Amino acid sequence: MKITFCGAAKTVTGSCHLVEVDGLKILLDCGLFQGGHDVEARNAQAFPFDPHDVDVVLLSHAHLDHVGRIPLLVKEGFAGEVVTTPPTAAIAKVILTDSAHLQVEEAAHDARKAGRHGEQARGPLYDVGDVLDALEAFRRRIGYEEPVDLGGGVRAVFHEAGHILGSAVIELQAQGKTLLYSGDLGNRHHPIVRDPSSPPKADVVLIESTYGDRRHRGIEESAAELKEAVHTVLGRGGNLLIPSFALERTQEVLYELFLMWKEKELPECKIYLDSPLAIATTRIFARYPQYFDAEGQEVFAKRPTPFHFPPLHYAQTTEESRHINTQPEGNIIIAGSGMCTGGRILHHLRHNLWRKEAGVIFVGYQAAATLGREIVEGAKRVRIHGEETVVEAQIWTVNGFSAHADQPLLLDWLGQTAAGAAFLVHGEAASLEGFKKAIADTLSMRTHIPEWKETVTV
Ligand code: ZN
Repeated sequence: MKITFCGAAKTVTGSCHLVEVDGLKILLDCGLFQGGHDVEARNAQAFPFDPHDVDVVLLSHAHLDHVGRIPLLVKEGFAGEVVTTPPTAAIAKVILTDSAHLQVEEAAHDARKAGRHGEQARGPLYDVGDVLDALEAFRRRIGYEEPVDLGGGVRAVFHEAGHILGSAVIELQAQGKTLLYSGDLGNRHHPIVRDPSSPPKADVVLIESTYGDRRHRGIEESAAELKEAVHTVLGRGGNLLIPSFALERTQEVLYELFLMWKEKELPECKIYLDSPLAIATTRIFARYPQYFDAEGQEVFAKRPTPFHFPPLHYAQTTEESRHINTQPEGNIIIAGSGMCTGGRILHHLRHNLWRKEAGVIFVGYQAAATLGREIVEGAKRVRIHGEETVVEAQIWTVNGFSAHADQPLLLDWLGQTAAGAAFLVHGEAASLEGFKKAIADTLSMRTHIPEWKETVTV
């Protein structure tokens, strides 16, 4: 069995691993590189394999850094199937369409810039037409624990990863060996999504290392902090902004707000979900309650639900979005992007950051060089749409909503596989090294941190 690490090697994004076994070429994920010019430049480079030769893609989940290069793969000759769970296929459709629009917008921006310098810009990586072609490859939907015969005596089984709706750990059985790919592993006790399932025994593991060197606070603590922020800000008549990622985080925040409302702990207010992408993903969640955990299924079995309860309003159009800022203050506004790098959250920040009574609660990771990070780090003035704004609003950062397992959980999961060797992927340098050391201290397992495009034989 040969494995080539075609992405998420010594970096978090661009997940893509080629497994060659028994004459088959199997791709585990095919994600987009994100974050910073140098990393993103890899998206336009040729794949380190011929897409025509790939037999099948096994897709762990629908985050862009795992699914985002599939349209490119199809455009460049891949003619096989993408095998994944039903919710992942449904979410991928929305995520890839959104990505195509962004690619086209960015390419137009680059073209204008290049034109001013008398240069020629490259076109978009892919457009909506390419996404439609790619979606035809999503032909085989499978449930958890349902073995899939890939031919040549190779079998795949998807297990619950507990990361986002439909996310999977992928087991490959071939030549009497088991290879386990963690995809992204979730936390325990999160609302809606199930806990990660116990992994099967394996010989070789490819494991994500996003928080390989860190420990999270619990979700209960984070829910309590959210409640405190809501009471503080609404209590003094301000707006509370929640910059949020469209997938999973938004639905978990809605779930917590719904519980507050049900317990009569939510002050009189309106909750605006001001993001077409988040509205689309929320709709998909509502279609797959059978994939929720037991508590989630119980909550969603009765009306009203966390996605439809009286204070909640969906702002789909730009008019509906603008209307929010004509309302008296004292409301909760959930909008993207999660790191405030674009999207509708920007005009809400412009309207509210300078107000002492307002508040912003960050529920997700804020990468370096983003507006979100600047605000979290205590900037007193920031620039939004080219205009300087003072920051008077109260700022909270809540980390427990993270969709990734922390070090103790990763170690526990890895230990259960009793594997002989683990390849550490999907992490920045410090997390990878910290995780490698923790494995050496607690488990007897060989580990290796692969380079981008490195091939190993196991
Ligand atoms: Zn993910």
